[in-house]
Amino acid sequence: MNRTSFNTKVVHHKVSQEQIQNSKSTPIYQTSAFTFKDLDHMESYYEGKSPYLYTREKNPNTDELGMTVANLEEAESGVATSSGMSAILAGILSVAKAGDHIVAAEDLYGGTHKLITKELQTFGIEVSMVSFSDMEKVKNEIKSNTKLLYTESITNPFLRVDNLTELVEVAKQSGVKTMVDNTFATPYLLQPYTKGVDLVVHSGTKYIGGHSDVTCGVLVGGEELIQKATEKVVALGSNLSPFEAWLTQRGAKTLGLRMKQQSDNANQLAQALRENPSVKRVYYPEYVSEQGHGAIVTIELDHQLDIEQFFRSLGWIKIAPTLAGVETTVSYPVRTSHRALSEKERENIGINDFVIRLSIGIEDAEDIITQFEQCINQSIK
Ligand code: PLP
Repeated sequence: MNRTSFNTKVVHHKVSQEQIQNSKSTPIYQTSAFTFKDLDHMESYYEGKSPYLYTREKNPNTDELGMTVANLEEAESGVATSSGMSAILAGILSVAKAGDHIVAAEDLYGGTHKLITKELQTFGIEVSMVSFSDMEKVKNEIKSNTKLLYTESITNPFLRVDNLTELVEVAKQSGVKTMVDNTFATPYLLQPYTKGVDLVVHSGTKYIGGHSDVTCGVLVGGEELIQKATEKVVALGSNLSPFEAWLTQRGAKTLGLRMKQQSDNANQLAQALRENPSVKRVYYPEYVSEQGHGAIVTIELDHQLDIEQFFRSLGWIKIAPTLAGVETTVSYPVRTSHRALSEKERENIGINDFVIRLSIGIEDAEDIITQFEQCINQSIK
């Protein structure tokens, strides 16, 4: 560079790219755009020869995360987005447009329920919601304009585990696509794509990130659908920031270790709570996979218990409107995830004032069990 003044020098100084090629951890490409040495170089982006132009369209950190989750799910391709919700929307819009119809499970996460029942209508997409525990009911809802069957691999908050093989069979017979939210199971326990599901979505905010410090989503599937979904993400501006992609990628490195410990802990807690007379019902899947049965336990407390006192007696366990972190937390669906539903809708899926969702962390199982037992004892009126 020619001799330059202070302000020019300061904005143009950069470490040479060759010197950072061997960084052990992927650098954070915290940039909104990429630069070009000449017009031919810039043209090479449009010819598909050079990958990066503008971060909303594509960035190395978001690409790395999308492909990591795709690899874990054994899918062809993946795209990382700003949240689980935006990944769900991008996935749905990649297969359905105005005039189309989708069939969704009636007991989805509250945010997805709201997106599907309220927002999709504004896109002109028609929706039917049914119980996916009865595939005959699902089949009966399929019409000539149905494009998609949508469910969760482990539902929230009652942890129903759908038979994905049967779901895929029904969809294939009718020529419709399938999309599954695999947030609660994670690819450590289940890989819906390997069972023939077309699109698999994650709230990366949960187990993939694992440390409650990012909001992100990841959608994986076949090349063609992910390409279409990516176009929606770019057009809607629901891309993930490079730093959050990097943080999620870092968290994902310990996904297997965390899921193993958290699932083992949850299994032990579920068994202990089944023995507790103050717990009316314990919802914990009997079987998810050989690796474990998930790290969420939902309970319905005896209706004689003082629920306010329960939440005051949790000690080191915190109340949090989320799940999947390394710390054990509890959430109250009536007031958080399913707050947007009407009382009637909540009643239909079995959510009442005594239903509590426990997200089990990596602490020692005995400590978690002791803490919940103490807390329940202190809530007896
Ligand atoms: N899917 C499930 C199963 C969830 O529990 C959540 C959030 O709690 C979402 C999707 C939405 O994810 P996000 O909050 O990252 O948008």
